[in-house]
Amino acid sequence: MTDTNQSLFDRGQEVIPGGVNSPVRAFRSVGGTPYFVASAEGATVTDVEGTTFHDLVQSYGAVIAGHAHPKVVEAIRGAAARGTSYGAPTPGEVALAEAICERVPSVEKVRMVSSGTEATMSAIRVARGATGRPKLLKFAGNYHGHSDGLLVSGGTAMASLGLPASAGVTESAVADTVVVPYNVVPTLDESFAAVIVEPCAANMGLVPPAPGFLEGLRAECDRVGALLIFDEVITGFRVARGGAQQLTGVTPDLSAFGKVIGGGLPVGAFGGRADVMDELAPLGPVYQAGTLSGNPLATAAGLAVLELLDDDAYALIESRADCLAGALAVALAAAGITAVVPRWGTLVGLFLGATAPHDYDSACATDEALYARFFHALLDEHVAIAPGAYEVMFPGLAHDDASLTAIAEAAGRAAVVAAG
Ligand SMILES: *Cc1c(COP(=O)(O)O)cnc(C)c1O
Repeated sequence: MTDTNQSLFDRGQEVIPGGVNSPVRAFRSVGGTPYFVASAEGATVTDVEGTTFHDLVQSYGAVIAGHAHPKVVEAIRGAAARGTSYGAPTPGEVALAEAICERVPSVEKVRMVSSGTEATMSAIRVARGATGRPKLLKFAGNYHGHSDGLLVSGGTAMASLGLPASAGVTESAVADTVVVPYNVVPTLDESFAAVIVEPCAANMGLVPPAPGFLEGLRAECDRVGALLIFDEVITGFRVARGGAQQLTGVTPDLSAFGKVIGGGLPVGAFGGRADVMDELAPLGPVYQAGTLSGNPLATAAGLAVLELLDDDAYALIESRADCLAGALAVALAAAGITAVVPRWGTLVGLFLGATAPHDYDSACATDEALYARFFHALLDEHVAIAPGAYEVMFPGLAHDDASLTAIAEAAGRAAVVAAG
């Protein structure tokens, strides 16, 4: 018997919690059965039933050159044939570290890890180790992976101490994390080791930094001697060659990367000021390690992707993002749907409401039920966006004019269906 999306989901749910290895994939917030991908190429994914979708998920941003890009596939194949992991350093990880440092001037030294979660977690540890201070400030609605100290939600007060945002996270694990609203510069004191921020928030829909916000954070961190950490796991190597820090001109002390630099393989990296990074073992007292860190397949894929991304590539993706955002705005407006389609660099969001959000509370005003209808109407038109109202869209090198035109036409029909 041949597999269907439903039969695989049924089987998966017997042996994998919810049938998925990352919760958003289960379609809980939009309803229905996830499509199980059999293969993908360029701007499209094809499910096990043979349906091909124009794909704006692109592994939540991990794939910027399109699926199965020949250069990336070739790099991975070549690396695999030489062995998949050694427990010894390799030329590839030195080359990738050089490529990162060259593109992002604030990164004087960098260490590879295996996920964005590890990257932010380790950046925070080294910030605490270097400053000798306990507290961390984060912004409500910013996502930094699923380590305990970051799974925290704000209370109602302006600068509340965090509360655990997940069962299994203890109050003591988040006791040193303070949560404040995005786009407002907080007042710090000398107990803060670091401020971590998504320089453009892309996990509560797309919420760009307000003018002066990042500059204000930089100044406030400097005033009290805290380190500024940019979580560029999404924005890094996606919005510009040098990431959000290049676009905004604000320089962090430390940066966390992931997604794009793995070329679709499991990768993260964190880096920044040499004096801070040299606090890491074996040079300094801050412990951090990983059996698969700097893995040769992942570094080969990452290098192959970075080589495709010159300034022209970013200009091209940005023009495509602009085209996508424009087409979606037109489609929704024509169907009588009130929406804002924000774009920041190469990133495109979708807010189903009247006023563009500026923080988590305003982002939560998006119409989730309408998003679910639009999502399914798009899927029926063979266009895949993320199955969650707080994700963004990831146009990339593979979304050529033909694919954008097809998406625009599909969006026009889907918006009419969603509007009911
Ligand atoms: C995806 C993401 C992470 C976590 O990365 P994983 O590789 O999923 O662990 C961290 N920060 C931001 C901004 C992200 O978007």
